[in-house]
Amino acid sequence: MTDPRPALIGMTHNDLLALCEQAGVKSVHADTLRAHIFRRGNQNVRDISDIPHEFYRFLEEHTCRLEPALSAAQQSEDGTGKFLLRMADGREIETVLIPGKGRLTQCISTQVGCAVGCTFCLTAVGGLIRNLDTAEMIAQILTAQTYAREKHGEMKFGEETSTGQRPRNLVLMGMGEPLHNYNAVARFIRIVTDPAGMAFSPRRVTVSTAGYVPGIMRMTDDNLPCNLALSLNATDDKTRNRIMPINRRWPIAEVLEATQRFARGSNKRILIEYVMLADINDSDADAHRLLFLLKNIPCTINLLPFNHFSGSEFQRPDNTRVDSFAKIVSHAGKVVIVRESRGRDISAACGQLRSESQQRKTSITSTAAT
Ligand code: SF4
Repeated sequence: MTDPRPALIGMTHNDLLALCEQAGVKSVHADTLRAHIFRRGNQNVRDISDIPHEFYRFLEEHTCRLEPALSAAQQSEDGTGKFLLRMADGREIETVLIPGKGRLTQCISTQVGCAVGCTFCLTAVGGLIRNLDTAEMIAQILTAQTYAREKHGEMKFGEETSTGQRPRNLVLMGMGEPLHNYNAVARFIRIVTDPAGMAFSPRRVTVSTAGYVPGIMRMTDDNLPCNLALSLNATDDKTRNRIMPINRRWPIAEVLEATQRFARGSNKRILIEYVMLADINDSDADAHRLLFLLKNIPCTINLLPFNHFSGSEFQRPDNTRVDSFAKIVSHAGKVVIVRESRGRDISAACGQLRSESQQRKTSITSTAAT
């Protein structure tokens, strides 16, 4: 059953100030609340020692905590942690913690399902169910953090993690097209980058899109404090139309123009994501076309050899093909990184853990938090 009261963790500093005004208490208590909720990650207002008594009562009456249930948690041999969270209405979404050299990255979902329909994506199979609200996105950070740090101390993310169990990077690349849920995502970005709150550096927060041009334009006009990742995945419109139907509405030239505009005159980073599908988009000719398309766009290119899942028509290219593609791109002076899908020994494809959960609803709680 969903609580009609707004969740505190979905509130910006301005919202917290408005709450203070409504409750008739000093605005300085908004700062105390912000530090308690977002810096300490504690939603229990009774743990705050220095706010007026009537404000506790007001907060308890007019706001709620949002603590999604953890339906499943898995950790792979490479340290990747995958969490399946059940929201108040019973819908499940995934979030992933990915360790790297000296940093921990969290991948955030923005929707339950997705309407974009990329043919290589498992999340696309069930279509869009609903948008997540801002609080449900923030809850992914708090839940994974709490689980990893306190409830299951054995779940470590490797010595290479300099920031302990707290992620330093956020990527909105989980389930959903973030820019189809723009308002909630923009509010999320403002909350996580608030220097007096969660204080993620805008340089370490990245929104990924399949190429929803009106959303990219809005991000640019709003000067949203984050980077942009474009999931490109093809070098000609015919191939991209086939694997990403959104391309029929916003073809490659249009989406690249919007991407270039986003970065122009700013120090924001552009990432180009390129899922490599055997015999579809992985030829040397594709690598050369990719270079041509990106010649005026300063960017990092992430090559992601496809992670096969049961029922998919696509295959992963072999390593020689991936190497050849990467060499052509890097010899031309572009920064290219081959990113193997993390957690290959667990349900690593985006949407896979949720899909498995739906298939065996009754048995998945074996690793659930209690
Ligand atoms: S790849 Fe991303 S945008 Fe495309 S269907 Fe999957 S979740 Fe949606």
